[in-house]
Amino acid sequence: ITDLVTFDEFITHWAADRPDRIAMREEDRVFSYAELEGRTARVATALAEAGLEKGDRIAWIGKNSDLYFTLFFGAARAGIVMAPIGWRLSPTEWAFIVNDTKAKIVFTGPGFDAVADQLAGKLDHAPRIVGADAARALIDATPRAAFAPSGPDDAVLQLYTSGTTGHPKGAVLSNRNLFALRKNSADLDLPYTEWEDDEAVLVAMPCAHIGGTGLGIMALAAGLPGVILAEFNPDGVFDAVEQHGVTRFFIVPAALQMLLMHPRCASVDYSRLKYILYGAAPIPLELLRQCIRMFGAEFIQAYGMTETTGTICMLPPEDHDPEGNERMRSAGKPLPGVEIRIVGADGRDVPTGEVGEVVTRSSNNMLGYWNLPEATAKTMTDDGWIHTGDAGYMDADGYLYIHDRVKDMIITGGENVYPAEVESAIYGHPAVQEVAVIGVPDAKWGETVKAVCVPKPGMTIDGADVIAWARERIATFKAPRSIDVIEALPRNASGKILRKDLRAPYWEGYDRMVN
Ligand code: ATP
Ligand code: MG
Repeated sequence: ITDLVTFDEFITHWAADRPDRIAMREEDRVFSYAELEGRTARVATALAEAGLEKGDRIAWIGKNSDLYFTLFFGAARAGIVMAPIGWRLSPTEWAFIVNDTKAKIVFTGPGFDAVADQLAGKLDHAPRIVGADAARALIDATPRAAFAPSGPDDAVLQLYTSGTTGHPKGAVLSNRNLFALRKNSADLDLPYTEWEDDEAVLVAMPCAHIGGTGLGIMALAAGLPGVILAEFNPDGVFDAVEQHGVTRFFIVPAALQMLLMHPRCASVDYSRLKYILYGAAPIPLELLRQCIRMFGAEFIQAYGMTETTGTICMLPPEDHDPEGNERMRSAGKPLPGVEIRIVGADGRDVPTGEVGEVVTRSSNNMLGYWNLPEATAKTMTDDGWIHTGDAGYMDADGYLYIHDRVKDMIITGGENVYPAEVESAIYGHPAVQEVAVIGVPDAKWGETVKAVCVPKPGMTIDGADVIAWARERIATFKAPRSIDVIEALPRNASGKILRKDLRAPYWEGYDRMVN
């Protein structure tokens, strides 16, 4: 199957190879690969009958659903571009993205029938808004007809970045981009890139992000069942592992922590589970250690971004030693076919071991941002390198260490401090549930390090004690000078800490770019 590149090719291949195998499961709705083929062909036909052509956009507002994947895969077969929109965003944010896509149809998921009213007056064009029941009825009622399949480099998915550093941007991804991970990891030829016939993949993160949608694509690429959770919840993950034979899932560190804190966590039967993939944000070392000890599965860290169609680096299971070595701080090694360089402010490569901006080139790299030629030109060079905006370094063995976003780096008295390292040091403090580290203005040092902490339930945080705890573990200049206590950290819909929101009140009247 190594020569398959497009949704149309994968779907027709598996439908012929294993028509009766489960392709998708959501609760009690189950579709075989033969049914997936038929249903997605009818989606392609229905969209053509509605007047859509290759390159047109459709959008989805809703939770994860078999309906979403059926619409997306069907549209992709015909080169119509799906733009899933995070359901946790506000109606104003939905409207921003719908307007940006110029979608001709907005599909809404189960339970989202109010979207049409919520968007009223906010749209700059008049898309058809189609509810979940109507969409299902349309798919059932449309007889299939021939359509021209999309090619390897045609756009099929428009995924918006998380908006951690500014407005979300629409990364336009092609068939080739979306199956690049399958191809690159197959080239590794290691146990965890091989698939057994009895495996199943869980879609646990929101489909508006590559860590959600990408897992559905991973299941399709392997010809295995994709088990769909409408939204992340610990019980749903545990049930999927115990009852639906899920062997792999991807979740973000904040979700791992929720699993770990759940009363069921210690008594779940993990015997079918093989791999837990995690990433999308830095993980505190202590959290990772606790997870390795708790779950009967192997761990794989993934590093990547929306613009690189997700994973470009992986930290393999063998580098996950619960006793914790330096390597556990790494985001892993570039996959075959992925080039990574570390460059300084002048754009030249820095020596091994020195921190700079991570830049990357591979067939994972997006076609570009939708409708943002300037942002595209700033992010992608003419010869195909993407500037990730992440600060990091590469060690002599080729392992990548992500420090943080270049914009989050704190410069205090001329020294560079990366919030993730400080957060990791504070994380194990007995009274601290969660922590985010930011730079705040300081007349003498330029910036100083501040830790914003959320206490564990029922505990009080003594700032001096947290500072002393940090000083025992990291250099004094990296340790926080001040501690704030808040009830919850501001996070975006992908669970990422919004450091810019934490910074804003301190930087009022200063000209540091809070973003
Ligand atoms: P925006 O680009 O809109 O500001 P965003 O960068 O958070 O939002 P995503 O594309 O969802 O949007 O996230 C990619 C970023 O997530 C990476 O650039 C990196 O900062 C972070 N990230 C991803 N994987 C890891 C990892 N394994 N370790 C640390 N950080 C990671
Ligand atoms: Mg980004």
